[in-house]
Amino acid sequence: MARGKKIYEGKAKTLYEGPEPGTLIQYFKDDATANNAEKHGIIEGKGVLNNRLSEFFMTGLGQIGVPTHFIKRLNMREQLIRAVEIIPLEVIVRNYAAGSMAKRLGMEEGTMLPRPIVEFSYKDDSLGDPLVPEEYIIALGWASQQDLDDIIALALRVNDFMSGVMYGVGIKLIDFKIEIGRQFDGEFQRLIVADEISPDSCRLWDMETGEKLDKDVFRRDLGNLADAYTEVARRLGVLPNNNAPLGKPTLIN
Ligand code: C5P
Repeated sequence: MARGKKIYEGKAKTLYEGPEPGTLIQYFKDDATANNAEKHGIIEGKGVLNNRLSEFFMTGLGQIGVPTHFIKRLNMREQLIRAVEIIPLEVIVRNYAAGSMAKRLGMEEGTMLPRPIVEFSYKDDSLGDPLVPEEYIIALGWASQQDLDDIIALALRVNDFMSGVMYGVGIKLIDFKIEIGRQFDGEFQRLIVADEISPDSCRLWDMETGEKLDKDVFRRDLGNLADAYTEVARRLGVLPNNNAPLGKPTLIN
């Protein structure tokens, strides 16, 4: 498929014009950044793994009726997606305290939360993606109360799905971030899961050993990031393997 004009280049992905109006091509790079891009590295193969993993999660979400931007994977690094207007919020769901929450509140990482917590950060690198209360989001007009209620409901469905899928392969879903897009159909809008879902945007701990299988391996210099992501892909049966059929992945142990 011919690739169109570059629309946007982010830290880990690039977006190109798609073959038809309303579509984009999302290219997964090998770049890894942390601490608001203070730390940067190239992790060979990361883009290929995340392309596959995001395809796997978004396809599964679609199958349980959660709308996503994913249309189809095109090749090892590219997928065709629906063009959406991204709401400038990082929607974070936490099942266990970790990362910025553990730090802010002085909690031990891994403490189970009484229920999943949904929080929002304002997507702005120059400000370091600050946490924002719902009140700000509504008052500043980034989303309406109805949108926020719908976003929270979507985020909790994604959480149930992701927690279950991970539980099935011996991984605890500690927390994750998603982004939500508005898709317009005439004057109607629909909120859909956009961006990516991958170990770049989740915290994944091995259930038995507590080993980290996510981007914290890079953020905290804990070992080889590609090995960690490969392990997640292996457990889910979505290892990029030239001999593997491109259809439905089969679960292996
Ligand atoms: O750093 P923090 O604890 O707030 O991160 C919560 C979750 O959101 C983690 O899974 C992290 O990987 C994800 N996240 C992200 N992109 C950011 C900030 C956080 O994917 N810019």
